[in-house]
Amino acid sequence: MSDNWNKRTQAVHGGTRRSQYNEVSEAIFLTQGFVYENAEAAEARFIECGEDEFIYARYGNPTVSMFEQRIAALEGGEDAFATASGMAAVNGALTSMLKAGDHVVSAKALFGSCLYILENILARYGVEVTFVDGTNLVEWKAAIRPDTKAVFFESMSNPTLEVIDIEAVAKLAHAVGATVIVDNVFSTPVFSCAIEQGADVVVYSATKHIDGQGRALGGVIIGTKEFIRGTVEPYLKHTGGALSPFNAWVMLKGIETMALRVNAQAATAQKIAEALEGHSVLERTLYPGLATHAQSDLVQRQLGGKGGTVLSLDIKGGKEAAFAFLNALTIPVISNNLGDAKSIVTHPATTTHQRLSEEQRDELGITAGLIRFSVGLEDADDLLADVKQALDSIAR
Ligand SMILES: *Cc1c(COP(=O)(O)O)cnc(C)c1O
Repeated sequence: MSDNWNKRTQAVHGGTRRSQYNEVSEAIFLTQGFVYENAEAAEARFIECGEDEFIYARYGNPTVSMFEQRIAALEGGEDAFATASGMAAVNGALTSMLKAGDHVVSAKALFGSCLYILENILARYGVEVTFVDGTNLVEWKAAIRPDTKAVFFESMSNPTLEVIDIEAVAKLAHAVGATVIVDNVFSTPVFSCAIEQGADVVVYSATKHIDGQGRALGGVIIGTKEFIRGTVEPYLKHTGGALSPFNAWVMLKGIETMALRVNAQAATAQKIAEALEGHSVLERTLYPGLATHAQSDLVQRQLGGKGGTVLSLDIKGGKEAAFAFLNALTIPVISNNLGDAKSIVTHPATTTHQRLSEEQRDELGITAGLIRFSVGLEDADDLLADVKQALDSIAR
């Protein structure tokens, strides 16, 4: 195991832990518990649980630990804690460190469930949350106070694909000692270096690009050893958000091919976005990899110019035209996951963001004609031809 390995090598070998059989592929330890040699050993383990020792799968498990070590190595973080879903990770990262009376600043363009935690749950427990336009540094600066405990944002927002400047927000937050928590799903572990750029804590829904094949739910929190073992672990091990060993194994194997998949998906997304820009039935083509994207300089700086695997199309003619477009597609499936090998199209206004008021949707640019398109691993020309025929069908 080497700290000097590049991402692709970490993705294949990082965190590997072999049993006495020296298996090549990672073993699945489908066990909730672990046997102690004797009563004294049990007592000792409960006093201090060593690096390669386990007590109960809610606390930790060898397969889960391999996944945690692999993603931590990939992200350049000291440690990680795996969770049952992306939302368990978001909730765990926030609630493990916050208490009544604390102040949080959050971007307002959030995945629906993230918004629920920040807007409803934290408020219920006495945490004050100030929402800002995440792309506006003036708003961040005005909202962050000397007593701000944490800032939270999605580095690339869903579904309008705005990019938030991690380095700049981290600088403002760190000036008052606030913890920077970044939900990094849309940026993907392949294109992002969030920790290097100033994030203290990075959260992923592993359900997305890490599995990448639509099989399992999972999540992970990455941060310093002190934050993960001192703050997150005590909270999560007692509240039960543990990742199952089987799902951890799915994620471990997913990480091995993630860079190949995500690079191929992003290349196709770039090709489709470029080909569709300016199409007569499109109000807007939103993709961070386009030169016309509002923050293309930042995309260069923060993501090496890579726009990710998702693009959004704003179709003229509102909901009716958007539905006609969805129904005319033959390759992408209508669903609500993303980062999958299969292309997936979603109408956020009536599904993932249905819970928001019309006013909130307007503010976030989630129009009735907006389609989120998660680009999969299909042949790029097949996908482009399909999208074009579906757009042409509604232009008639
Ligand atoms: C999907 C998603 C989540 C939640 O992940 P689950 O695994 O579905 O719980 C959180 N944040 C973002 C940005 C997501 O896309």
